[in-house]
Amino acid sequence: MRISSMTVHPLAVADPPLRSSYGRHAPYALRTLVVLKTTDGIAGYAEAHGGDGPLAAFEALKPLVVGMDPFQLSSLWRMWGRPDQSGDRSQTWMVPGENPRDARTRSYAAIEAACLDIIGKAIRKPVCDVVGGRAREAAPFSAYLFYKHGGGGGLGGDVREDEYGECLTPESMVRQARQMIARYGFKEIKLKGGVLDPEAEIETVRLLRAEFGPSYPLRIDPNCAWSVETSVKVGVALKEELSGGGYLEDPTAGLDGMAAVRQRLLAAGVDTPLASNVAVTGFDDLVPARELDAVQVVLSDPHYWGGIRATQRMGDVCELLGMGVSMHSNNHLGLSMMIMAHACLATPQMEFACDTHYPWQTEQDEIIAGGRVQFVGGAIPVPAKPGLGVEIDFDQVARLEERYHKLPYRKRDDEAEMRKHVDPNWKRLLPRW
Ligand SMILES: [Mg+2]
Repeated sequence: MRISSMTVHPLAVADPPLRSSYGRHAPYALRTLVVLKTTDGIAGYAEAHGGDGPLAAFEALKPLVVGMDPFQLSSLWRMWGRPDQSGDRSQTWMVPGENPRDARTRSYAAIEAACLDIIGKAIRKPVCDVVGGRAREAAPFSAYLFYKHGGGGGLGGDVREDEYGECLTPESMVRQARQMIARYGFKEIKLKGGVLDPEAEIETVRLLRAEFGPSYPLRIDPNCAWSVETSVKVGVALKEELSGGGYLEDPTAGLDGMAAVRQRLLAAGVDTPLASNVAVTGFDDLVPARELDAVQVVLSDPHYWGGIRATQRMGDVCELLGMGVSMHSNNHLGLSMMIMAHACLATPQMEFACDTHYPWQTEQDEIIAGGRVQFVGGAIPVPAKPGLGVEIDFDQVARLEERYHKLPYRKRDDEAEMRKHVDPNWKRLLPRW
């Protein structure tokens, strides 16, 4: 069996005006669908980061991929040239999907996912069983809360319903959490911070704890918006609220900054774990992060760490180093949801509920045949279906692709959205507080 064709489809997916320290989400998030077909008539699918950069990277790979045996993933990896290792490995300034140092792992991850989908379909086994079986029955996810402006995403005649309304206060965030948990059954909560004054974000976390109690682990992630000083202040203030399975994620920039926060928190009697998907973004960060004691929980991501099998290897390394494992997310559709769920099931060390932006997207934008993937009690059960377990609705793909071609942008730019809608002079400042 050989890969006989590779097609890439750029997609634009409606997205509400969610806020973070990067700025504000645009009306459409960009994704890419990768389709591999084999000489045996099997199709394998993967979803990846979007925009013209990822698209060009996939186009350039076609000569390597077309003609390959989908079972020979190791030799595919070997054929890839090593990317430039000279740049900044962190995501302090770059969003996931744009770091040149991840160029190989990012593209490989999508090809591997599509090949695993093919392998699973060929031998009639789910992907998680192909790579070693299930460490758990379903993949748990957390309620991913965002401060946001009013609006549900989309533009003109293509706007989405604003399910959660404007949320720019601690009280409205509790309402958002109640609504999201009632609908999906999540059992852990993650708050995207770095948006309001830290005092208001502390208040938000306190109100969430008062509302849901200590059985709902809480995390806050301001994407490096705070100085070491502010991070320590917040960590001390939220000592109780972030205990019991929660964590403080990327409060400040860089491994040295994180290490300083950790030291000062420990000295103050606060052992809240620090988590990261910004200071730690690849295997080469793991040992330094451990040596500095800068990060205690690493957020994996099968899209940029190098795929589902790389997530398993990362779990092994983290176990060896005594670090916990969680999972990062970007805006995504149901195909990525399944890649993430299979990765979670197949990685025994994934002991925290994974992040997902999935509740922020709607049925109208789903490319999975038969509609959106369903949560059961805040988790995604992976069916015993072959491969990733889903087929694609190509009419929907055509609609999302047409929308992509009509958009004036080809790259995520949250700062530009802030300047357009909030403050014409807005700039991302790190630290802001
Ligand atoms: Mg994060």
